[in-house]
Amino acid sequence: MKIHEFQAKQIFRKYKVPTPEGSVATDPEKAAQIAANLGDFPVVVKAQIHAGGRGKGGGVQLAHSLDEVKSHAGRIIGMNLVTHQTGPEGRTVKQVLVEAGVNIDKELYLSLIPDRETASIMVIASEAGGMDIETVAAETPEKIIRVHINPLTGIQPFHSRKVCFGLNLAPEVIKEFSFMLKQLYQLFVENDCSLVEINPLVITKENKVLAIDAKMDFDDNAMFRHKDLLAFRDLDEEDPLDVEASKYNLNYINLDGTVGNMVNGAGLAMAVMDTIKLAGAEPANFLDVGGGATAEMVENGFKIILSDDKVKAILINIFGGILRCDILAQGVVEAARNTEIKVPLVVRMEGTNVEEGRRILAESGLELFTAEDMKSAGDIVARIVAE
Ligand code: GDP
Ligand code: MN
Repeated sequence: MKIHEFQAKQIFRKYKVPTPEGSVATDPEKAAQIAANLGDFPVVVKAQIHAGGRGKGGGVQLAHSLDEVKSHAGRIIGMNLVTHQTGPEGRTVKQVLVEAGVNIDKELYLSLIPDRETASIMVIASEAGGMDIETVAAETPEKIIRVHINPLTGIQPFHSRKVCFGLNLAPEVIKEFSFMLKQLYQLFVENDCSLVEINPLVITKENKVLAIDAKMDFDDNAMFRHKDLLAFRDLDEEDPLDVEASKYNLNYINLDGTVGNMVNGAGLAMAVMDTIKLAGAEPANFLDVGGGATAEMVENGFKIILSDDKVKAILINIFGGILRCDILAQGVVEAARNTEIKVPLVVRMEGTNVEEGRRILAESGLELFTAEDMKSAGDIVARIVAE
């Protein structure tokens, strides 16, 4: 689960991670009020969406007067902001963060992520802050520092020293930086984060360390123990189909291709996506209805795939273990009755009660293609979407 910059900064403050003073507004009047309370110019007016690259897209503006605050806020609120992370359709801005301006001396990059390979928490830092970190990694990989922290020992002074020296920090800022990093590590662990990213983390002309951007992402599987964080969720920022799927407890991820697919088990779903790609087509989604799926879950999964306009055909591949083939077949028929199916269906199933399942499908009067194995299922569906 992602949250907005202003929300991440609220959490930062709780952990004493320094960040500029400011507050969020949904209209220009309120924005001006916040700026007036800040007392000094310039102030920064920042679009709040769950995507980076706002600066380049015109969503981050400096204002030198209350009138400028109003005009920037008026323009940004309601705008459709397109950045390299929103995709070409962009995102509608509902609110802006109005924040005290900062005298920037140096822009750094700092992030924390779990590193699966080393089973540790990895700090990534770079002197090339403010830029797209993927570009830095591709063009000047030597400018990226990585420090692994064993979660059993937690962050130690030597970890901070490695990061500070790697960033060529001036001696005057090392103490403050190390304190900030220690706090950030605490924040990361206690909130079950999957990402904390500050780009840029700035050193001001007054030698202060300040997070002027803040991105946080949380492990969805840990949200049950962070009920307070759920209040930060902004459904407008999430893919509507993902939101719908999460209501039904389906493991669904919307993708770019044209072949919708419904599979039971994450491993089989991965294999099916590979099969679709090998056959020359692209999956439109990942959907694992789960090992213990019911006919109702199959129907819900079906509805979600069918409401996705880019889907030109659907491949259903079920191994009937706990979910028996006859139950699946009933779910498909049920869904077909309740939803208008506009695209061809390809079904491949195997396992418990497969004969019964095939009989139900055959007698349903539905128009579908049945495949004997995965490869031919992939080939059939790829042929259909290529037409
Ligand atoms: P992003 O483009 O979505 O990553 O948004 P950021 O919060 O990183 O802002 C983009 C850029 O605006 C930063 O890299 C800074 O260069 C600039 N910026 C943000 N806040 C301030 C500020 O207070 N003063 C100045 N001078 N520049 C700022
Ligand atoms: Mn940024």
